[in-house]
Amino acid sequence: MNHPVAVIGAGPYGLSTAAHLRARGIPVRVFGEPMVSWRSHMPEGMILKSVPSASNIDAPQRGHKLVDYCDAAGIKRLVTDEDLISADTFVEYGDWFQKKLVPDLEQVRVVSVDRREREGFELKLDSGEQFTARAVVVATGLSGLEHLPGEFAAAVPDGPTPTGPVSHSAQHHDLSRFAGKELTVVGAGQSALETAALAAEAGASVTVVARGKGRVRFGAPPWHQPRFRPETPFGNAWSLYALTYYPHPYRHLPPQARHFLVRRVLGPLGAWWLKDRFEGKVAVRDVAGIERVTVSQGAPVLSVRTLGGRADELSADHVIAATGYRVDLAAMPFLGEGLRTRLATSRGTPRLGAGYVSSVPGLYFTGMLGGSSYGPVMRFVCGTEFASPRLAGHLASAHG
Ligand SMILES: Cc1cc2nc3c(=O)[nH]c(=O)nc-3n(C[C@H](O)[C@H](O)[C@H](O)COP(=O)(O)OP(=O)(O)OC[C@H]3O[C@@H](n4cnc5c(N)ncnc54)[C@H](O)[C@@H]3O)c2cc1C
Repeated sequence: MNHPVAVIGAGPYGLSTAAHLRARGIPVRVFGEPMVSWRSHMPEGMILKSVPSASNIDAPQRGHKLVDYCDAAGIKRLVTDEDLISADTFVEYGDWFQKKLVPDLEQVRVVSVDRREREGFELKLDSGEQFTARAVVVATGLSGLEHLPGEFAAAVPDGPTPTGPVSHSAQHHDLSRFAGKELTVVGAGQSALETAALAAEAGASVTVVARGKGRVRFGAPPWHQPRFRPETPFGNAWSLYALTYYPHPYRHLPPQARHFLVRRVLGPLGAWWLKDRFEGKVAVRDVAGIERVTVSQGAPVLSVRTLGGRADELSADHVIAATGYRVDLAAMPFLGEGLRTRLATSRGTPRLGAGYVSSVPGLYFTGMLGGSSYGPVMRFVCGTEFASPRLAGHLASAHG
């Protein structure tokens, strides 16, 4: 079959997979906006939580790591765990990687993917073009997977919006719109804490509402990491080492064990360098739970249960739900109904075999979409090092 392979997505995972496929001589068409999640759906001024050694987009050839970009751009080399990477620099690195290794990226959306009767897939693009692919790699990352817990539903029946009473953290790039306003940020992960600090620096009065006692915590700086434990991009610990470098057995664990590991091992924790920018500038309100969010005279009101078990109400000018992302095939409307119903899933996420192939031969998922099979490392850029060569190797032997 001479048809190309279609890679849907031009973030770190799509670009890395495309580079690996191309290096194997496989014809590829790659679709998406380069680095769009980083460029438009993360706050301006953001700094990566991951350290330089864990922020490389994996390529089959030497010379495409973050430090190689720094050398090419003539900027300070980012190498040690204390070198902080701005999101702007990371976007420029991704753009540089794309121009070098995926120069013919097509900046169009894929609107549908369906299985062809005998073999291959039929794709439609928003340019109106229709074509056949021998295999499809879905690397659509965070797009469309923003998660808003059920208690927010009554406040925003049509979904969150940046200009309404409630938004999702992915809907903001410029936080200066909150200057002089009372802002509540819900969540305790890095995204919540950094959004809160940046909004406070922009002149907002910010409260973080976190579920549970003492949930807002920050990691230890590199010089205080425990010794005699293996180093990983996320800190020094045996559990992190296993999940980072040996994700192969992950998919054979029972679902409860997998979900436990995701929550416990890489649970919410602010970056060490954020602590000083956060403490004393952002208020924290620990609650037992948020029962519901309503809107009164255009402003959001959080009905919470306090740690002591009382009911209370918290009001603000705006609430940002930094409540993360959840993989859900139903939120990927470009996958045709026929395909979706044939996909084996685990809690709404595709179940993948060796080489990231789904239960539909020729259909692959990578990045966060592979997380339920290959573990939490797939939520981070460093997972490209494990995923991309394996996916490309499998695809080359099955469809090359
Ligand atoms: C606030 C925040 C901070 C983060 N910080 C870090 C960090 O410090 N370090 C780290 O390793 N990770 C971090 N992450 C996680 C990081 O976002 C992911 O690791 C990474 O972006 C995933 O890359 P991806 O290629 O899978 O998807 P994305 O980067 O989300 O890219 C998705 C691509 O798919 C394309 N696309 C989507 N739908 C279609 C369609 N229908 N047709 C065509 N193209 C489509 C988009 O245009 C885009 O090109 C952070 C995430 C957030 C939200």
